[in-house]
Formats: sequence, structure tokens, C-alpha cells
Amino acid sequence: MPTYVPSDTPTETHTDGYVRQNCNKKNEDPLGTVRRSDVLHMPWGHTKADIEEYQRDPAAFFSSHGGRYAKACVDFPEGSLVLVPNGKKGLIVKFKSGVKLGVISSLCIAVYPRACGHVNVCGGRRCSICDESIQEVFSPLDTQKLCAYLKAGLILEPFWSIYREIEIVGEADYNGVDGRSMAGQDSVGTWPRYWKLRD
Ligand SMILES: [Zn+2]
Repeated sequence: MPTYVPSDTPTETHTDGYVRQNCNKKNEDPLGTVRRSDVLHMPWGHTKADIEEYQRDPAAFFSSHGGRYAKACVDFPEGSLVLVPNGKKGLIVKFKSGVKLGVISSLCIAVYPRACGHVNVCGGRRCSICDESIQEVFSPLDTQKLCAYLKAGLILEPFWSIYREIEIVGEADYNGVDGRSMAGQDSVGTWPRYWKLRD
């Protein structure tokens, strides 16, 4: 896989923005998740409740507190490139589809049983009890983790999401440059940037 580094002069490889994949701040391997699935989940749009709200009224969902991040991710045109940052590295990916809805098979959620009454995790701004119940968002292929969480009495839930299909263009390496200057600190943002192949 090619590795790209930042370029000060225009190149053919141009990212329009960045999209983080640190769902609930409980995913230790956001880039591995992208590699395993070839999808990006929409930040603030990754619960069953988010999907239902989006289906009822997309405009209302997108204008909600977290929905504007999902909207920003939906607004990147098909074919455009974005950076998925993680520390001082990342992946450059190309959007291959519009909005899709469903379970992402590369992730599952380990949650403590909770007393709020919600059948599935609501997360985000909806329910603090659901939020606190989330222990980790991780790969269901990791049987060691699956077994450990089940043994500890946790519940495993599928990872529903509003998502888009992507193709990985290459790895991004901006080592030596302050990571915070390479992309904003939000979940999603516009951020024009040129990249060149590493020598
Ligand atoms: Zn709840």
C-alpha cells in the first residue's frame, strides 16, 4: 500500500477533509476498523436510535447536536478523499457510496447491563446511563476479548451505523509534524490538503 506525506505544492492526491473513527472514544484501533470493513461510520450517527431518527426525518436528525457531524460526513461528494487520522498517522480514503444504514460487521460493543430500560445503547446525548455502560467498541473477530467480556457478565451488541462505503487509497504519514496541526480536533471537518508519495 502506498504511503503519502504532506505536500506543500499541489498534487493529484487532495483530501477535502478528515473523519475520525474513535466511536464513543472507546475504539482502540480506528484504522484497523477501516481496513477490515472498507466503510466509514458517521460520527454521532452510530446507534440504532440514530438510524431510526435519520429514517424518520433526515433534516431534523442532521440539525441535532451531534447530527451536524454526521451531516458534514455525508456532504463530502462521492469520489472525494478524506483523511482518517489517528495520532501521527492515518489513512487516506475515497468515498465510494452515498449514505447506507445497517450493522457494521467489523465492530461490536461490549456494554454493562443497564437500568435505564433502553433495549440497545442510545449513547451520545440521549442517555448517560447508556453512555457509561459502554466499555469498548472492538472487532468481533477478537475472540479473546469476546470471551473475557462475556465471562465478566457484559452484553455484546451489534454496531449499527449510518455509514458510507470507502476505498483505501493509502497510508498517511505526517510524522515530524504536529498531529494537531494536520487536522482539526473535531470528529469531522473540512481540511483541504495535498499529499505526495513518500520518497
Ligand atoms: Zn439508556
